[in-house]
Amino acid sequence: TLAHTTGTAIVADAHAIHETPPAAVEVHDVHKWYGDHHVLNGVRLTVRPGEVTVILGPSGSGKSTLLRVINHLEKPEIGHVSLNGELIGVRRQGERLKELSERSILAQRGRIGFVFQNFNLFPHLTVLDNVAAAPVATGLLTKPEARELACELLARVGLADRTAAYPRQLSGGQQQRVAIARALALQPGIVLFDEPTSALDPELVGEVLSVIKDLADSGTTLVIVTHEIGFAREIADRVVFMDGGRVVEQGPPAQVLDHPKHERTRDFLGKVL
Ligand code: ADP
Ligand code: MG
Repeated sequence: TLAHTTGTAIVADAHAIHETPPAAVEVHDVHKWYGDHHVLNGVRLTVRPGEVTVILGPSGSGKSTLLRVINHLEKPEIGHVSLNGELIGVRRQGERLKELSERSILAQRGRIGFVFQNFNLFPHLTVLDNVAAAPVATGLLTKPEARELACELLARVGLADRTAAYPRQLSGGQQQRVAIARALALQPGIVLFDEPTSALDPELVGEVLSVIKDLADSGTTLVIVTHEIGFAREIADRVVFMDGGRVVEQGPPAQVLDHPKHERTRDFLGKVL
């Protein structure tokens, strides 16, 4: 009957609403100053689970600071960040409303992988131990479990045969792939990349982008700061363009990259393309 059908539809709708997961990352009107320098000026950003967000913008626009705020390496003076619906470091008009304990911040940070421009591997540890160290140190896994996981992750980034090498014996592209495996070892819900290929020789960029592409295809939530526009077009669900500590525009790559609304976005794309 019609009544029955309508009833079912309503139930299905309610179910759908109920099942909508919280945003992986929600940045609410974040302001950050270094001294007098207003480095983040009211940034809002929502990252849905499984989405790939690419952040573009000129040097000094606040991209790295935004990643550091998301990862709780920096605290905003105003605004707040929530991860999977959990509010953190909430402040409004300078008033501290809620502060997460250091322990909760560490727990939250453990659920975020961070890959830096300069790899930041431990030089005195083998490739395997670079990847296995954190899950053991945090008590997530036993040493044998961590080593098994590290082997799997290193195979996934194409380095199964280099587990016993030290970072200095690897190319930049290989080191960055180790850094990605290391970031995955804590089984993070989200991975942040800060210009992962900027320090690499051009011929090594592709192997790192291809590993990131595999991660994206496997449904991992990613936020990537990069100047690789072609890669952004291929991989991003959403492109965010920042300038002067603000999000100037954001949207699907076809919109932001091919039909930018703002002069500053057009200028920037004209320079990097
Ligand atoms: P981007 O990653 O887009 O190049 P950043 O977030 O690194 O930009 O930096 C934004 C601005 O904040 C820059 O002008 C930079 O010099 C400044 N800045 C970044 N980190 C610090 C810091 N720890 N102390 C003071 N100024 C900083
Ligand atoms: Mg930066």
